[in-house]
Amino acid sequence: MFYLLNILIQMKILLNNQTLIKTLRPFSDIGFVPTMGGIHKGHISLINKSIKSNKKTIVSIFVNPKQFNSIKDFKSYPSSIKDDLTILKRIKKLDYVYIPKFKHIYENNKRSNIKIEKKYKILCAKFRKGHFEGVLDVMNRLTKKIKPKNIFMGEKDFQQFFLVKNFIEKRFDTKIIGCKTIRNRNNLALSSRNFLFKKKELKQVEKISNKFLKLKIKIKKIREINKFLQKSKKEIENFFDIKIEYLENRSIKNLSKSNKYKGSRIFLAYYFKDIRLIDNF
Ligand code: AMP
Repeated sequence: MFYLLNILIQMKILLNNQTLIKTLRPFSDIGFVPTMGGIHKGHISLINKSIKSNKKTIVSIFVNPKQFNSIKDFKSYPSSIKDDLTILKRIKKLDYVYIPKFKHIYENNKRSNIKIEKKYKILCAKFRKGHFEGVLDVMNRLTKKIKPKNIFMGEKDFQQFFLVKNFIEKRFDTKIIGCKTIRNRNNLALSSRNFLFKKKELKQVEKISNKFLKLKIKIKKIREINKFLQKSKKEIENFFDIKIEYLENRSIKNLSKSNKYKGSRIFLAYYFKDIRLIDNF
């Protein structure tokens, strides 16, 4: 009996647009969690939030080549559909997983003319040319197909959340909901890219991450926060022998540089062993 019940409520895997559209047609209260796979507890927290707030929840797994500005980065992106499905199947009440192929997303391979405003060509947009144009394009296409009531996104990728929210909420009857960053027990923000590190390397990344996190306490008493962060950037680079792309305090309202503690976050991106990591707090 329980076995039968389990089968009846099992998560459905949708592999093409026809099944996706047909399956979702009867529903209007849909929560959507877009991912690129490499499922971890950060993703799961978004899924659980969606399950709590919506009648149906759908997760997508699609490693979108158009948002990668380096082929090497795209090819090495850690993603195993088999492992992901094993994890997702364990989430009770998760209804659907959509796993499209490139042709399903870019069926009418029209070039998108989506552009990022100049004032937002900062942080990751400055260092990863074309990245957010690719993110907005795929989010636009996914939202058109899925028509979700809510989309759940992590604040771990705050600039992405900010730009997608501005873009999608203007065009669709869909709300973008930001969810807090999930960290491991040593305070490192969970990320699919962490799977690329060996155990020893991960320990070092945790040390670096904690060094950054301590800055949040230090800046409480500092007036010229961004000047202080510039100095800290050089010190941390030398100490850990890493390349930091940016370390800046910015307003969470409009992402402009800020020397205020309140209403701002420290944003950072750096490379460790050729792997690019980002965080904000
Ligand atoms: P990704 O698969 O890396 O594209 O991430 C899919 C979604 O999960 C995005 O909205 C991310 O911001 C979110 N996410 C990734 N890592 C975390 C985390 N550690 N905590 C919360 N959300 C996360």
